[in-house]
Amino acid sequence: MHPNHALPSLWQNQVADAIRNPAELLDLLALPAKLLPQAIAVSQQFPLRVPRVYVNRMKKGDQYDPLLLQVLPLAAEAQTSAGFKTDPVGDLTAQSTPGLIHKYHGRVLLVVTGACAIHCRYCFRRHFPYSQSNPLANNWQKAQQYIESNPDIKEIILSGGDPLSLSDNRLAQIIRQLEQIPQLKTLRLHTRLPVVIPERINPALLTCLQDSRFKIVMVIHVNHSNELDKMVKTALTALHAAKVTLLNQSVLLKGINDNVTTLKILSEALFNCQVLPYYLHQLDKVSGAAHFEVSDTHACQLLTNLQQQLPGYLVPKLVREQAGALSKLPLY
Ligand SMILES: *Cc1c(COP(=O)(O)O)cnc(C)c1O
Ligand code: SF4
Repeated sequence: MHPNHALPSLWQNQVADAIRNPAELLDLLALPAKLLPQAIAVSQQFPLRVPRVYVNRMKKGDQYDPLLLQVLPLAAEAQTSAGFKTDPVGDLTAQSTPGLIHKYHGRVLLVVTGACAIHCRYCFRRHFPYSQSNPLANNWQKAQQYIESNPDIKEIILSGGDPLSLSDNRLAQIIRQLEQIPQLKTLRLHTRLPVVIPERINPALLTCLQDSRFKIVMVIHVNHSNELDKMVKTALTALHAAKVTLLNQSVLLKGINDNVTTLKILSEALFNCQVLPYYLHQLDKVSGAAHFEVSDTHACQLLTNLQQQLPGYLVPKLVREQAGALSKLPLY
């Protein structure tokens, strides 16, 4: 069989088999049926999507489970809130060529896919028009020319959506293409897949990353230590062994991780999986996510307390993304 027509692998089946039906999710977790009408209504806007292996890490019967709250559509999302917008970080205006976002010195972000294996309710890209911004449809040359006309760019960041939702072949093809641009030294992947479906870290992907001439940085996205189970640890350990630098970014989320104990345990659990905390983001003000907001005062207080309890290398930088700024802005 031709490799491009290979059967879907285990992880691809897991993506395809993700839970999309709110009734099924509530049923699996033995949650009250009264949550259903709002979940159905709100998921018309931004659909429910959550892989079964991620649901397995949630506690049955607990409607406040910190993993469940990241994916369950709630009525609160339908409320509009002052200052919350559809493109809160100015990604649409920062596109240099379609799908190529150049906001910060020395690095560009390439949106390689709109697909994610999980739909996080607080996601700042929940309103992003991916279909119009795919650089790889026929805009690859424009992206390449843009990079070459900006010799300061040394790092390419694959983002999305989730870049690891591309097949191994497609991803390898993109990486090989980028390797042809000599000025690029570092490849960074922003992905939630090693956490939500650890089976994604398969031998083909590890080989592809290991064979690259690039320094490789992977920024994963974990908000709560319950997301890090044994399989996730195995996947991350394999990436570490393949010389991938592993960093984590979290979003500070009300009711999920907005207390010192949770953040402390998260940092320690990440380190146990070979990952260093990188950023703790103040929420992007995206419409539908206002109920997750934590005040700056409380966020800074958390950082003070965290710093008193952890070695410096386990304390993430507290930042906010601001449209038009030259970097993520430190709050602390
Ligand atoms: C966050 C982000 C980056 C990376 O910023 P770092 O501070 O280097 O992590 C790059 N480009 C865009 C558009 C971003 O949003
Ligand atoms: S881009 Fe990241 S945060 Fe947003 S839905 Fe996808 S995985 Fe979740």
